[in-house]
Amino acid sequence: MTDTATNTKLIQGRTGPWEIVMGLEIHAQVASKAKLFSGAAVGFGAGPNEQVSLVDAGFPGMLPTLNKWCVEQAVRTGLGLRAKINTFSQFDRKNYFYPDLPTGYQISQLYHPIVGEGVVEVEAEDGTFFNVGIERLHLEQDAGKLIHDLSPTESYVDLNRAGTALMEIVSRPDLRSPEEAVAYVKKIRTILIYLGTCDGDMEKGNLRADVNVSVRRPGEPFGTRCEIKNVNSFRFISQAIQYEARRQIEILEDGGSITQETRLFDPVKGETRSMRSKEEAHDYRYFPDPDLLPLEIEQAWIDEIKAGLPELPDDKRRRFMSQYGLSQYDAGVLISEQAKADYFEAAAKGRDAKLVSNWVTNELSARLAADGQGFDLGIVRFPPALLRELVELIEDATVSSKIAKEVFEYVWAGEGPPRHVVEARGLKQVTDTGAIEKAVDEIIAANPDKAAAVAEKPQAIGWFVGQVMKATGGKANPAAVNEILKAKLGIS
Ligand code: ADP
Ligand code: MG
Repeated sequence: MTDTATNTKLIQGRTGPWEIVMGLEIHAQVASKAKLFSGAAVGFGAGPNEQVSLVDAGFPGMLPTLNKWCVEQAVRTGLGLRAKINTFSQFDRKNYFYPDLPTGYQISQLYHPIVGEGVVEVEAEDGTFFNVGIERLHLEQDAGKLIHDLSPTESYVDLNRAGTALMEIVSRPDLRSPEEAVAYVKKIRTILIYLGTCDGDMEKGNLRADVNVSVRRPGEPFGTRCEIKNVNSFRFISQAIQYEARRQIEILEDGGSITQETRLFDPVKGETRSMRSKEEAHDYRYFPDPDLLPLEIEQAWIDEIKAGLPELPDDKRRRFMSQYGLSQYDAGVLISEQAKADYFEAAAKGRDAKLVSNWVTNELSARLAADGQGFDLGIVRFPPALLRELVELIEDATVSSKIAKEVFEYVWAGEGPPRHVVEARGLKQVTDTGAIEKAVDEIIAANPDKAAAVAEKPQAIGWFVGQVMKATGGKANPAAVNEILKAKLGIS
């Protein structure tokens, strides 16, 4: 249900409409070979505790050393989010006890984050755009991992992840529906992947979101929010928000009030449940980490990083629309994945861009998905040059679009490049009007009643087109078939 006056998405409660308000804290693991403050390796799949330095393990007397690469990635990301880069920032200790945190504190940035305010443009389902404000981006360490299912009586700790660099990207409470929240996370993920600052792998937990949800009556001030921790898939984000909003609405409609708290989403039950009451900054006794100097960044370095940024998704979408004449929708599908966009550009050289775009987003995407492959692998399996050749065959009327799909399958199966397949399998389109006329004459002669009916009902010509195509093995040029049929059946 949409409130047309304010154009916000409302949900219907027992006592009237409600609006959901959301702000997200996205944790993105920095794409880095080493941790934020130690030289220990970062990687997935190492044995337990194989990637832990004395710094990560919190040994007494160890000193953190800031990893410049990680700082550069945070700056790159900030620039990609069109945000202010703070030339002065500082690291703070966030103190709390947990067995996966050997130092007893997490190094984070509370008071002076490396990146300040920014803005992200997100495309809604209906093709319109909305802006989401970025409040800040700061660098912090990840914690280790506790393993409870290896022994019935003991818990184990794996510190491989401890000290890994995270970028926490905090949005303003600008989101108004589960769809908007998901579209926002997708957009952030795409930007990060374009920038190369995070691999965006949500299954591995390299990108996850804390989702803050509150509800209010339309037009009223923001309500009290609950924070759902560590949601790591688009589907779970949507489910968690829907469940949580309903839960809050029910409490409020029953005359209750919302307690600000941290909750967990249980994907099996599809519900959120309370984890702990909301903690405040003072609960963590934040203070500047005395082991680390304030971080001062030179503007010249920021400018250098800026000059090295790749073309970002928004710019690419606009360029695809103007340079190739694609619709906003088609351009959006192509740029959603950098590899897909690159593939398209390589295949579109000198070809009908709209046709190439259709092939990339339809046949090729479907084929890759069916084989459980990504676009990068697709480039190896079906290089852009092959698609260019296939589209050329359609453009010069060597094959119809329908036969082209068959050719595509044979090429995919490894029978050789498109032109070769067309020759070898005799799939060339019949444009020889004599051959088509012969087929038309035979079919009309065999079906005089149907031919008479076409005079009354011209759309019945479709049946004849189908028969001629069948008779010619689908190779007849459809335009020629139509023309000849119309002439012979006496319709204009
Ligand atoms: P804290 O300092 O307690 O962590 P913040 O002001 O930093 O709170 O907000 C944390 C996140 O919660 C931000 O993403 C913000 O947009 C979001 N948020 C703040 N207020 C609300 C609200 N009333 N409803 C939903 N989300 C909110
Ligand atoms: Mg906060």
